[in-house]
Amino acid sequence: MTAEVINGKELAKDLREEMKQEVTALKDEGITPHLTVVLVGDNPASKSYVSGKKKACEETGISSEIITMPATASEEELLEVIDKLNADDAVHGILVQLPLPEQIDEDRVIEAITPAKDVDGFHPINIGRMMTGKDTFLPCTPYGIVRMLKSRNIQIEGKHVVVLGRSNIVGKPVGQLLLNENATVTYCHSRTPDLAAFTKDADILVVAIGKAHVIGAEHIKEGAVVIDVGVNRIEDGSLTGDVDFEAAKEKASYITPVPQGVGPMTITMLLENTIKSAKGVLQY
Ligand code: NAP
Repeated sequence: MTAEVINGKELAKDLREEMKQEVTALKDEGITPHLTVVLVGDNPASKSYVSGKKKACEETGISSEIITMPATASEEELLEVIDKLNADDAVHGILVQLPLPEQIDEDRVIEAITPAKDVDGFHPINIGRMMTGKDTFLPCTPYGIVRMLKSRNIQIEGKHVVVLGRSNIVGKPVGQLLLNENATVTYCHSRTPDLAAFTKDADILVVAIGKAHVIGAEHIKEGAVVIDVGVNRIEDGSLTGDVDFEAAKEKASYITPVPQGVGPMTITMLLENTIKSAKGVLQY
């Protein structure tokens, strides 16, 4: 079997076209969706993610601003910036780019963002709402994955989903969202002995480990759906996933590539959350 490739870039492009129309309609009502991104320090990867987000906003008609702070900024200084953004009615979404310098407590910062503007979906209130199946800002990468599956009408209900990785931003929430869709979910992590024993039983395998090509054909059940979240820079400078794409695509029914897979969908869900915030549909 050769897998169909779910191209996240193409899907994201289609969704962003629809969003442009929504943004135009909101502007006609006098509402301009606005996202503010706060970047602390000069981590090159973070800078590149932030500029990608700004570009995506521009293309969709969403207004955006990047506030940059030096790597030496204190937690109090960052919390002051967040307080001002929380109080500014023109700001619909606040995103603090992670990771933060070590003098700043990430949890404190995430909890300082008002849940009503937490378009990353990381605030404990939004995580709690997600866990209880309520309407909320869903975390962007996990939500993007669900949308990729749905875009191909891939059945989730009743399927065995195996998630590799249990981070708060990818592994745990993607398992929860797929549980909400009535999948049976198994989580694996670095302490799981014999990973293949679990992965080989997966109808849908979500890999979010952060290690290049650790998952090969021997880990995959014939006809499984393989979602590769990993982004790893290898020796030749190119980006690759956690899955050996060439080997896996001969066994899977659907597979996502890296790049042009989950990444563009993550940014697209950020845009969607910002528009949702501007519409004011969520009550807190
Ligand atoms: P993370 O916080 O480092 O978590 C990695 C997880 O993988 C941990 O739960 C860890 O287990 C587990 N793990 C590590 N090595 C393992 C192994 N050999 N076998 C089984 N489990 C193993 O990473 P993350 O933030 O979730 O990100 C994961 C990957 O996705 C990274 O490559 C990241 O760049 C990428 N990512 C992509 C996007 C996107 O939009 N495309 C967004 C976010 C992240 P323990 O918990 O036991 O340590």
